[in-house]
Amino acid sequence: MSEHMGDPSNYIRKRESRAEHGQTRDLSYPPLPPSLVVPCYDNHAHLEIADGDDPLDYLQQLDMASSVGIRGVVQVGGDLETSRWSAEMASREPRMLAAVAIHPNEAPAYEAAGTLDAALAEIDELAARPRVRAIGETGLDYFRTGEEGRPAQHRSFEAHIAIAKKHDLAMQIHDREAHDDVIETLLRVGAPERTVFHCFSGDAEMARLCADNGWYVSFAGNITFKNASNLREALEVIPRDRILVETDAPFLTPLPHRGRPNSPYLIPVTLRFMAEHLGTDVAMLAAQISSNTELVYGSWDAEPVSNGGASPWDEAIDPSELA
Ligand SMILES: [Zn+2]
Repeated sequence: MSEHMGDPSNYIRKRESRAEHGQTRDLSYPPLPPSLVVPCYDNHAHLEIADGDDPLDYLQQLDMASSVGIRGVVQVGGDLETSRWSAEMASREPRMLAAVAIHPNEAPAYEAAGTLDAALAEIDELAARPRVRAIGETGLDYFRTGEEGRPAQHRSFEAHIAIAKKHDLAMQIHDREAHDDVIETLLRVGAPERTVFHCFSGDAEMARLCADNGWYVSFAGNITFKNASNLREALEVIPRDRILVETDAPFLTPLPHRGRPNSPYLIPVTLRFMAEHLGTDVAMLAAQISSNTELVYGSWDAEPVSNGGASPWDEAIDPSELA
């Protein structure tokens, strides 16, 4: 698990897949795109996952992102280990805010082990830490989890909604092939004030429904994929003040780099694609999305980091000791 120990880098997971869609992936990082003139944010990334032949650590990724006009990243956890890491790193690194949660595909395993309640209690504790600004990613996933895992997913999702409301945090939803039940749950129990559909996967009709409820829609690099006309149609109808952008790094790398490792420095590729599709100016869209992002998560500068940002990685951390 903690394979970074003793290593100056900090990965706590390795991305296993060397193939995507039956093809061997190109495991080199894409080149830096031209810098944005108006800066923007990446509101969903997993910087703890090592990917590629020569993985970039979180600090290299943030430095590259800064060099092309990305002001900050929301670093997202999906289990206790990665949620602890996210909260800890956000407390040290001024360009990072954290989201913490048990991912819907992890919830059934915690439930089967009898540890879901304890895990949710720790997420509740992490939610109170400085620079933790969102609960996520939580939600429902009927693609990777079968029927037998659904009760645990539903219980976990509702508990996360309650935690987000209790701490007045934003919530990032993971919704994979579960649109109806995600929406039903949000409407039944009441969504947190700032609710984001991370890596939005619906269509124009669902985007309208999200906007009507005041929810945000975050687009990832897959909006550039040829078969993703539903996402482009959603982008066309959603009010500009509800749009966010993310990488979901190291996954979902935008064209023309699909399949290679993703990183927040590739936000400009997706943003330029979105602006072109909308027939709008990149700077205008970046300004709008920056403003939306700060309304959802607050300012990256609002809470100081614990070490003044001087030396964000003095020694390797064993995430299991962080709690
Ligand atoms: Zn994610």
